[in-house]
Amino acid sequence: MDFYKKLNVPMSQPNISDLEIELVNSVLKSDSLSMGPYLREFEERIAAAANCNHAIAVNSGTAGLHCCVRAAGWGAGDYVITSPFSFVASVNALLYEGVTPILVDVDPLSGNIDPALVSQAVEDLANSGEAGRKWLPEKNSEPNGTLRGILAVDVFGQPADYDALNETAQRANLKVIEDSCEAIGAAYKGRPAGSLADCGVFAFYPNKQITTGEGGVVVTNDADAAMMIRALRNQGRSPSDTWLDHTYLGFNYRMDEMSAALGVAQLRRLPSLLEARSQVADWYEQELKDIPGIELPHKSATTTYTSWFVYVIWLERSVNRNEVIRRLDALGIPSRPYFSPIHLQPYMAEKFGYQAGAFPIAEDLGTRGLAIPFSSKLTQEQIYQVASALRQVL
Ligand SMILES: *Cc1c(COP(=O)(O)O)cnc(C)c1O
Repeated sequence: MDFYKKLNVPMSQPNISDLEIELVNSVLKSDSLSMGPYLREFEERIAAAANCNHAIAVNSGTAGLHCCVRAAGWGAGDYVITSPFSFVASVNALLYEGVTPILVDVDPLSGNIDPALVSQAVEDLANSGEAGRKWLPEKNSEPNGTLRGILAVDVFGQPADYDALNETAQRANLKVIEDSCEAIGAAYKGRPAGSLADCGVFAFYPNKQITTGEGGVVVTNDADAAMMIRALRNQGRSPSDTWLDHTYLGFNYRMDEMSAALGVAQLRRLPSLLEARSQVADWYEQELKDIPGIELPHKSATTTYTSWFVYVIWLERSVNRNEVIRRLDALGIPSRPYFSPIHLQPYMAEKFGYQAGAFPIAEDLGTRGLAIPFSSKLTQEQIYQVASALRQVL
């Protein structure tokens, strides 16, 4: 027991090398702290990595999602189908614009939005009757809204099933946004995450695969959307506007040059950082696969490369998760529930009248998911320590 008291396994950790320090320092020694050469380089490198024509860097993933929603023209009176099993930012980006989110449940193995349910919802909502109404939130939803799009989330580093989602979207003339904030570098049937819908968004908070401190980026092949998002992040300035001309109502969502330089260094190291995370996931699988009472992460058939974001294990329904968290913590191992479904967050339940039971699969995953320490810097020894602690606790 004393041995475990000395453990220090962080929940997550950024991976910063001398290169990052060098590039950020070079910005600080220059006169260009915003809208400089590193911003352009960061955007060029991201666009290339995601195989997209345009990349627009912003100061958070949430800001990127918000710009995509605004650029799509979605607003009050519109419905957009999205997932309750996500980080709150994906639904919030819709709420900022007054869009009514139409939540549909997820696939029990991947946690990604269930494309069959999306297809059903689209069909039912097209026939404005009882069938359509059952997909709407109980409270405060526009009774006669127009379905405009799908906002899918690439949960834990695996892309959602975009071939199926895009086919449904094409049939109903919907736009699709890919929240790929947890999946930079992942591949779906050989194609890069972020490029799988009309617009994709990556995020760079310090617990993500790569970080810029705070930051995000939108990638797209749609030149009009790219122009609009560039304007929106920069106080609504169109390409021909001067500093005091503002064609649109915009935001200050610009990424500063220190963050962009940090991002350039991280992007240069992206393949090795992803491989290191993949190695950690492999070690976990080896060490955890024989422990009774847990299920390990499932790989989707459509995922050709997993970009490991977090390592979430699924506890058996009979296991008391809070007790597991408490006992792991006593051994020096941090762990967290992951995710807490969005529809049961207090502001969502209050606004839309959601109750427990509304999305049983998301809720079941939300009850059983446990994120254990994960980063590219964990050693095999630390993985062994986490596994031993889990074995002891379970
Ligand atoms: C991290 C994340 C975001 C964006 O987060 P920011 O902190 O705003 O950069 C959005 N959606 C999901 C699913 C995320 O995990």
